[in-house]
Amino acid sequence: MSFDVEITDIGNDGEGIGRVDGYTLFVKDAVIGDRLRVSVMKAKKNYAYAHLDQIITPSPYRIKARCPIARQCGGCQLQNMTYDKQLEFKASKVRNNIVRLGGFDAGYIDSVMEPIIGMEEPWRYRNKAQYPIGNDKNGNPVAGYYAGRTHSIIPVGDCLIGIEENKQILDIILSHMKNHKISAYDESSARGLIRHVLIRKGFESGQIMVCMVINYRNKKNTKSAAGDYIPGQQVLIEELAAVKGMTSISVSINTDKTNVIMGSEIHTIWGEDAIKDTLRGIEFEISPLSFYQVNPAQTKKLYGQAIDYAKLSGKETVWDLYCGIGTITLSMAKAAGQVYGVEIIPDAIEDARRNAASNGIENATFMCGKAEEVLPDYYKKQEGDAIHPDVIVVDPPRKGCDEKCLDTMLKMAPDRIVYVSCDSATLARDLRILCDGGYELKAVRPCDMFPWSGHVETVCLLSGPGGRGQCHLDKDFPSQSYSYN
Ligand code: SAH
Repeated sequence: MSFDVEITDIGNDGEGIGRVDGYTLFVKDAVIGDRLRVSVMKAKKNYAYAHLDQIITPSPYRIKARCPIARQCGGCQLQNMTYDKQLEFKASKVRNNIVRLGGFDAGYIDSVMEPIIGMEEPWRYRNKAQYPIGNDKNGNPVAGYYAGRTHSIIPVGDCLIGIEENKQILDIILSHMKNHKISAYDESSARGLIRHVLIRKGFESGQIMVCMVINYRNKKNTKSAAGDYIPGQQVLIEELAAVKGMTSISVSINTDKTNVIMGSEIHTIWGEDAIKDTLRGIEFEISPLSFYQVNPAQTKKLYGQAIDYAKLSGKETVWDLYCGIGTITLSMAKAAGQVYGVEIIPDAIEDARRNAASNGIENATFMCGKAEEVLPDYYKKQEGDAIHPDVIVVDPPRKGCDEKCLDTMLKMAPDRIVYVSCDSATLARDLRILCDGGYELKAVRPCDMFPWSGHVETVCLLSGPGGRGQCHLDKDFPSQSYSYN
């Protein structure tokens, strides 16, 4: 069945949305403002997925994707849209989610929304890339991306959101594989040596790391004393070491039948175990397994905004929940009295402590555990002023904060809460809970950390306790209508 439809909205994954007689159509690769001929592929009661057959009138915001494989790769869903329109879409997505899912008054949210933080040059921004290695139809090794949710690899030439050195490094590894007849890992048979290549660069330091994930078992199944993991390893090392900026070459052993990329055993075969990078004046050590924000230029701006919202004068007690390797915690430590970081992953906490020590920061304490357990435990044990911090910062994963964590935050009653979020739907739900608990939403600022994808980061400031009357909720929004899961 085919229709003519105008695209009037964009869905969460960047797909175009159009309506025909109240029926909703989702169309991949469509841009707001396009008039399209589409054919229905999968129909449900109220909506359908449709295929873009023909562009009747292109949207004024439609541009030609720069990357030739943008459609197949799926990493950049919005490469067909001008960057300005993309920023507008992301800002309105945040605004609409807070209004509709959080039940806030639309006029009030418009008054506290600050302009989205975009990038001046939204290309080559990623400091990390992970490429699966496989074989093409002719059996030659290729590096690329899995097509959609499949297991076939689309060869990537030069990914335009990654660094230029990625291609140079991949070319060295692929031609070495060809010359030495080294097999790529095949998922279905679990055979073959090279599984993935991870590349990271410190944008401030210029240091580059390459880590090859290998399905390596040596014959006696013991650790190889000589550290020879790849045929012709010395030649490969020499070629990789000649790449400008290269400081660390390692292998990660992963022999499991799993789609987890990295193995836990890592051996440095040349250079250092980690690269260094500086973020907001603090030096971080980044090993192949460390979590580190992938867009350093925007991270700097996002943290800058979070620090502004925290209004630190040098004396404050600050909690940073979901702190990772302590990037926000340590950025705030210089301007605060005492900072506490809480994070679930033990390795990240170790990194955070090491980073604090190597930067001479003595007023940071890190605790390992779930925020929803560490915070209530701490609250129970403390008395008096100690339980009222000045600021609590949260930066949770997509599912947002746990209800117990929010509940304890309300009991601790900090003067300010700074909420950094990568999912505006769970952000909306949590803002509503905090405002129901007496906080007032003072500012909302979206930030584009992932240009050309549908994702958007947001930082919000809440101050409290303001009392229920100041919550600016939509009066018609039924209380408790948000769901918690
Ligand atoms: N603020 C950091 C990391 C943010 S990512 C940065 O900007 O670099 C979110 C972090 O929350 C991850 O490091 C993840 O491991 C951690 N996390 C996930 N669930 C958690 C929980 N229940 N309690 C504490 N930390 C958690």
